[in-house]
Formats: sequence, C-alpha cells, structure tokens
Amino acid sequence: MQICRDLPSLRAATAALRAAGKRLALVPTMGALHEGHISLVAAGRRVADAVAASIFVNPLQFNPNEDLSRYPRDEEGDLAKLRSAGCDLVWMPPVEAMYPPGSATVIDVAGPSAGWEGDARPGHFRGVATVCCKLFQQSQADVAAFGEKDWQQLQVVTRMAADLDIPIRILPVPTVREADGLALSSRNRFLSPAERATAPVLFRTMTAAAGAILRGTAVASALAEGDATLRAAGLVPDYFALVEAETLKPLAARRADGPMRLVAAARLGTVRLLDNIPV
Ligand code: AMP
Repeated sequence: MQICRDLPSLRAATAALRAAGKRLALVPTMGALHEGHISLVAAGRRVADAVAASIFVNPLQFNPNEDLSRYPRDEEGDLAKLRSAGCDLVWMPPVEAMYPPGSATVIDVAGPSAGWEGDARPGHFRGVATVCCKLFQQSQADVAAFGEKDWQQLQVVTRMAADLDIPIRILPVPTVREADGLALSSRNRFLSPAERATAPVLFRTMTAAAGAILRGTAVASALAEGDATLRAAGLVPDYFALVEAETLKPLAARRADGPMRLVAAARLGTVRLLDNIPV
C-alpha cells in the first residue's frame, strides 16, 4: 500500500495506475476508520481495479463552534485497517498541501445543501463540496464511494459532480450498523455506556415512523410521534423529517412518484447522532 503525503507523489502514483490501464476508486474519509469506511473500500474494489483512500480532517467543513481538535485521529490504526482491506493507495495531505496560502476558491452547492445539516452546520457543505472537488481533481479517480449514512452529503456531492461536469461516478454505499441498529460513526466513541445503550432508539424510532407512513398514517402525526419518542428517551432532535430523496425537500405527504427518505439528527449528551433510512 503506497502512502502519498504530497501532491506530486499522488499524481505520479495515479498516473502509473492509469498507464497500466487500471480504473481507480476513491474513498474520501476523515480517518478514525471503522467498518463503515471499510465497506466503502470493499465497494470500490468491486467496481474498480485499484482503490485509493484519502484521510484528511478538513478544517473547512467545521464551523467555528465545532471543535476540530476534538475530532478523533488514529493514523497508525487507520493505515493497518486500510492495508488489511486491500487498499492500494492512501492520500494523506497536510492541511498546507490541501489549502496552500492564498487559496481563495470555494464551492457552494445550492439545492440539496439547503436545510437539515445545512442549517445545523452553516458552511459545512461548502467545506465538503470544496474538498471533494479537490480530491476528485487531485486523484483523477473514475469512481468515488460515499456512505448513505451521510445522505445529504451524498446528494450534495452527486449534484456538484454533475453540475461541474467532473468525469467521476459517485457510488452510494449502504449504511453499516451495529447489531442493535446504531449506525457506525467515528463519534460513537464519545457516548457513555448509558448513552450507548440509549442510542439505538434513533434507528428504531425511524423504522417505526417509516412503517407508519407506509401503512397510511398521516406524515405529520408519524413525525410528531417519532419526535416525542426520541425526547422521551432523552434524545434532543434537531430534525426528524420526511424528504424527497435527491433534493432533500421536505414532504408533508407521502410521495407516489419517487423515492423518499426519512432523515434525522438528534443530540445525546455531547454527541450528535445522524441517521437516515429509505421509506
Ligand atoms: P467520515 O470519515 O466520517 O467523514 O466519513 C467518510 C465516508 O464514510 C463518508 O462517505 C461517510 O458517509 C462514510 N461512512 C461513515 N459512516 C458510515 C457507515 N456507518 N456506513 C457506511 N458509510 C459510512
């Protein structure tokens, strides 16, 4: 597994792969890797000849109220996991390589960035779109794998790649969950044992609400009941909503003409849990 820490070495490594006729899949991450990230590497391997993972804790996607320094980092553990997952290349640029002094270009995706995480974390999707665009250009990958776990991010990146005519296929990968339904997340390590025991309530409540909507319960009452269930369990929901799957526009009624998604974010102690499921 080759490790690149500067752009010229990444360019040389990906050029060599292309010269050998290999299709490259990119897996963008912020490190602190778990089985969810490893499933993206596996998905990349299924559709391409080589897989590159990037590990970059992107300061641009944290807003001033969020603690960038608290984000978990484990370079040695991450590299061991990527090696055993069969990753071919790791791109881990220092911040100065990604944003050299004088950097002045950002990417703002309207549409799917609006609302939900876009409201809760102002500037977040600008940071995500900007770094993903740069990662796509730097790697020249054919495919990029993204987790459905971050559904809105997946839609923002898909929209950005289409709008900017970037010749890359965005590959959605299903959410990996613990046996009790909790979606794997680097932030779960900050849950106390009691909070960890409560956390699966989010997925259970979403599943129940989706079932109720499909059985014909009015959307507003299914959502209100879900919100109340979360609060009763000690979670503080930021949102619990039914949306059009690609545009993230809120739906007040069940849709007959296209995919819907239930999206939710809720705080449990100091941890913000984020999840979504198809309806
Ligand atoms: P992160 O490093 O947390 O920013 O995530 C990097 C990538 O891993 C993103 O595409 C996430 O959607 C994806 N990811 C994170 N958690 C999971 C999960 N539980 N299942 C599948 N993909 C995930």
